[in-house]
Amino acid sequence: MVDDVWKRVPFGVRSPEVRIKDFEEVVIGYDRETAIEEAKRCLRCKKPKCMEACPIHQDIPEYIHKIAEGDFDGALRTILEINPLPGVCGRVCISKCETECVRGKKGDAIAIHLLKRAASDFGDAEFEPPDSSTGKKVAVIGSGPAGLTTALVLRLRGHDVKIFEQKSVSGGMLSLCIPTFRLPKEVVKKDIDRILSTGVELELNVRIGEDIKFKELLKEYDAIFIGVGALKPKRMNIDGEDAEGIIHVIPFLEGVYVHNKKYSSKKTVVVGGGYSAIDAVRTAKRLGSEALIVYRRMREQMPASQTEVYEAEEEGVKLHLLTNPKRVVVKDGKMVGIECIKMKLGDPDTSGRPRPIPIEGSEFTMDADMMIQAISQEPDLSFIGSEEFKITKWNTFEINEMYSTSKKGVWAAGDAATGPLTIADAMCGARKAAEDMHIYLTNRV
Ligand code: SF4
Repeated sequence: MVDDVWKRVPFGVRSPEVRIKDFEEVVIGYDRETAIEEAKRCLRCKKPKCMEACPIHQDIPEYIHKIAEGDFDGALRTILEINPLPGVCGRVCISKCETECVRGKKGDAIAIHLLKRAASDFGDAEFEPPDSSTGKKVAVIGSGPAGLTTALVLRLRGHDVKIFEQKSVSGGMLSLCIPTFRLPKEVVKKDIDRILSTGVELELNVRIGEDIKFKELLKEYDAIFIGVGALKPKRMNIDGEDAEGIIHVIPFLEGVYVHNKKYSSKKTVVVGGGYSAIDAVRTAKRLGSEALIVYRRMREQMPASQTEVYEAEEEGVKLHLLTNPKRVVVKDGKMVGIECIKMKLGDPDTSGRPRPIPIEGSEFTMDADMMIQAISQEPDLSFIGSEEFKITKWNTFEINEMYSTSKKGVWAAGDAATGPLTIADAMCGARKAAEDMHIYLTNRV
């Protein structure tokens, strides 16, 4: 029995001294028994705040109730009704549901994401493939969370769906950018294999715009979904930015986790405070480098979760807050340091966070032989060629409320349409797009 209903049942986490030596998962999570104990704390609220807060409105009380009864298969079946990536979301969803859980008002919120992870790890359930085909063909560009969600929803409605992925691995940012110590590759594979088992086709290493022109897709397919993410690095526009030793966070993480690259540096500075910045700095630390974060605001304004920041510090990462790089110090074409300037916080800017303001005369230089830029990226839309689309000032596709683009028969969701948001937001948009695409395909003669 649960002794104190206000306290979360403890779960396994590997110690910093042990986990820093490898790339294995940091959080061990619950076993079956402790998952059942934690699930029993859920109140099955009549108007569940957790469900309201979840972008895809997952029936959280229902799957937690099934776990409390020891029915992990049933819990997984409930999750799969709306969420095609349970193993992924059980590990890396930012869990807005937990912030709103009523148990959290007086004590610890229910560990919803860890219970989802338990359902995924211990449960057994599959999607039901369609009995017949509608004969309609759908092309999906990109195999990240948005592309996979749209592909599955349309496949389950009987359409013939093919995903085109330009990389050698599927999963988009799940495989390219999220470290294995947060999201093991086999977890991503299990979720994707379950989707592909419904008959969704997947072709890797094919670049739309080069190997296949976008206009050829338009001719061959009845509808197209774009879920290419936002993976194109943006420049910082500071002196010395092109020196050897400077890399953007996406190619850095892809290099380590897809191409097994062993970057060797003595001291790595990661610029930024988001999830990718923390992932990169913890990765650099595991590669044997002294590793630190340079961030222009305070810790509480970092977009990364405070748990991840805390875990990074436990692993020996140093935070240089209220600090911004001004120029890279270069010798013989190689980076040898960074000149930084101290910042103070002013009134809120358009993001609602206090605006960082440089303090004149506070410049200082720190030694470093590697800098990872983790501030921003945008979608690479070069694949559309000369096709005309309405594009926003953020270089994303202009879409309507059903995620339809300005071109008939083409939808877009995920970061390529909304800019960088969460996995759950990408799945939510992709599901809406798929529903609209289904209506379009069904009415098409
Ligand atoms: Fe359970 Fe918390 Fe959701 Fe209520 S808000 S149903 S306690 S998880």
